[in-house]
Amino acid sequence: MSRPGTPGGQPGPQRTADRASAPSEPARAYAELTAGNRRFVSGAPRHPNQDAGHRAAVADGQHPFAVIVGCSDSRLAAEIIFDRGLGDLFVVRTAGHTAGPEVLGSVEYAVTVLGTPLVVVLGHDSCGAVQAARESSATGTQPPGHLGAVVDAVLPSLRRAEAEGVHDIDGIVDIHIAQTVETLLRQSPVLADEVAQGRCAVVGVSYRLAAGVVRPVAAVPAGFASLDVPTGSADPATAA
Ligand SMILES: [Zn+2]
Repeated sequence: MSRPGTPGGQPGPQRTADRASAPSEPARAYAELTAGNRRFVSGAPRHPNQDAGHRAAVADGQHPFAVIVGCSDSRLAAEIIFDRGLGDLFVVRTAGHTAGPEVLGSVEYAVTVLGTPLVVVLGHDSCGAVQAARESSATGTQPPGHLGAVVDAVLPSLRRAEAEGVHDIDGIVDIHIAQTVETLLRQSPVLADEVAQGRCAVVGVSYRLAAGVVRPVAAVPAGFASLDVPTGSADPATAA
């Protein structure tokens, strides 16, 4: 990995013919993702870009059209729930989709070096990381080992939920997703600039484990892709 040599997100050395077919605009990329999710939900996935021919075609370079910053939960496999294949999604996963330095660096790499036009924060109902943070907060105990780092990263979302009077776990999850969107933009001026220039958008979506459906809960720019997003829910300036 290297710093981007061409500000503006245009990929240099990895350009291939496959680039032409990948969505290069945020709205198109989001439309591709939601279309794939609808196929998955309806039980009619196409499993695109998973054949041997495509595997060979993308071996020389990648042009993913979306970065997924998702929870590590084993039921949240991005390529499956969005019905995509090799070379489509640049996936970064941690328990509770926490956004530490390595995550931020990975997102910046995809957006600036690979030219990926969309960043999606992917959370889900019944998230164990959020539940662990809530238990830790309620009991005043710190979990053992490095699990404490995950809990610590989720705690600001718990405090925000408390301040907003939200107490149910899935409501807290939605706040945590919006909080992660804000954290990405606040901690990464590189990403914020890409968004300000209109080359990228950041969307937070909540996935329902049983139904398989994703639902947008936050977006920057606000109203991106005509999302029904509460006003100000993902305004970086309001971040706790
Ligand atoms: Zn989770």
